[in-house]
Amino acid sequence: MANRYQVPRGTQDLIGDQVSLWQQVENIIRETCALYGYSEIRTPIFEYTEVFKTENDSSDMVTKEMYTFEMGDSSFTLRPEGTKGVIRSFVEHKMYGNPGELPKKLFYMGPMFRHERPQKGRYRQFHQFGVEVIGAKSPLLDAEVIALGHDIVRRLGLNNVRILINSLGDEESRTAYRNALREYFRPYLDELCEDCHRRYEMNPLRILDCKIDKDKEFFKNAPSVKDYLNESSREYFEKVLQALDDLGIPYVIDDHLVRGLDYYSNTVFEAVPVDAAGQQAAVFAGGQYDGLVNYFGGGELPGIGFGMGLERMILLAEEQNSLKADSGNADVYVISLGNVATYGLKAAQKLREAGFKVDMDYQGRSLKAQFKASDRSGARAIVILGEDEYAEGKAQVKDTVNKTQITVSFDELTETVRKMTEGE
Ligand code: ATP
Ligand code: MG
Repeated sequence: MANRYQVPRGTQDLIGDQVSLWQQVENIIRETCALYGYSEIRTPIFEYTEVFKTENDSSDMVTKEMYTFEMGDSSFTLRPEGTKGVIRSFVEHKMYGNPGELPKKLFYMGPMFRHERPQKGRYRQFHQFGVEVIGAKSPLLDAEVIALGHDIVRRLGLNNVRILINSLGDEESRTAYRNALREYFRPYLDELCEDCHRRYEMNPLRILDCKIDKDKEFFKNAPSVKDYLNESSREYFEKVLQALDDLGIPYVIDDHLVRGLDYYSNTVFEAVPVDAAGQQAAVFAGGQYDGLVNYFGGGELPGIGFGMGLERMILLAEEQNSLKADSGNADVYVISLGNVATYGLKAAQKLREAGFKVDMDYQGRSLKAQFKASDRSGARAIVILGEDEYAEGKAQVKDTVNKTQITVSFDELTETVRKMTEGE
């Protein structure tokens, strides 16, 4: 029988140094969001299935990859992405209520679930950080959202990520483009995969995103959306690009970049490592969307956002050695010898209260074993407590760098350790 006492395929335990890398990435993200005035929102990890399975979403994510389960009379789904739960919550709590407070700038971070084939950078439980700005439409906002993603990548020390950008235009432009795509692909229908037949009917833009068909010869000459943008869509896109130029954010226009969701309009973007082989490499991706807030009953409000895959960011950071795991070293190690009751623990607590990281022995091991443990702890200062010290209310303190050892009263312990660890 297969061993079930192991993590499910496509998931991972984060242990040891990995956790410290994750914490650093999460901290950088939170700090950056604060600088941009985005506040955190935490929605449930599962929702009613209807929240994700929206009528006009024909993406693989919704049609094939969702973890859905029945409980009682209801169907629930583990969230495969962040946007829809956030919009559902935005509407449920009437955050649109006070127009003076719009746009609402939100970010989320946490696990997402998709049943797809696991491979490098692709998991079944993975983690996304994402932002959603709801209730305003402006080229400046589009540029700011991209700048925020770019800033996080930069703060993580990654320098080989490229931003691809495109415009899908407004509804009028997209309708013209959809018609042109249907026209173009009609003679090739027999050569398109089964999913693309569905896409042909529902939203032919998504044919361009097909991982099976995209390298076929006739894709090269598919119509380009830029030829179908109306005047105002073109002007809008130019303003976004101008703002990015002004901010010094490099980008590449990618005519064939379309995004999964059928709600996307105007600006869409994706950040990929420069030497990316294959599509699983996108580290963050997003765009402007219309209609989603209205779908959940919140009226016609535009939105823009992106989702960032944290596993992929961390893989890149590891490849480029741009983050160092925190050593986890203690500042002080407390050694207790003989019959000294809770004297060691008391000393440790006193030092912890003063802000030192303290480790200690709990088992009355030999002096040699305790010194070995103190070595492993990486502590600069070692506090040694024997029966004499206990009786006299004293402590011996050893400096592992200068190799000095002094005896001080229990009351002087904190001050002594402070001087030692500050290198005085
Ligand atoms: P892909 O084309 O790689 O399947 P996607 O279009 O499905 O990506 P989005 O829905 O845009 O991805 O999600 C945003 C980001 O979340 C991606 O750019 C990626 O960094 C990350 N991501 C998506 N799916 C996974 C996964 N299965 N494992 C790890 N990260 C993922
Ligand atoms: Mg996908």
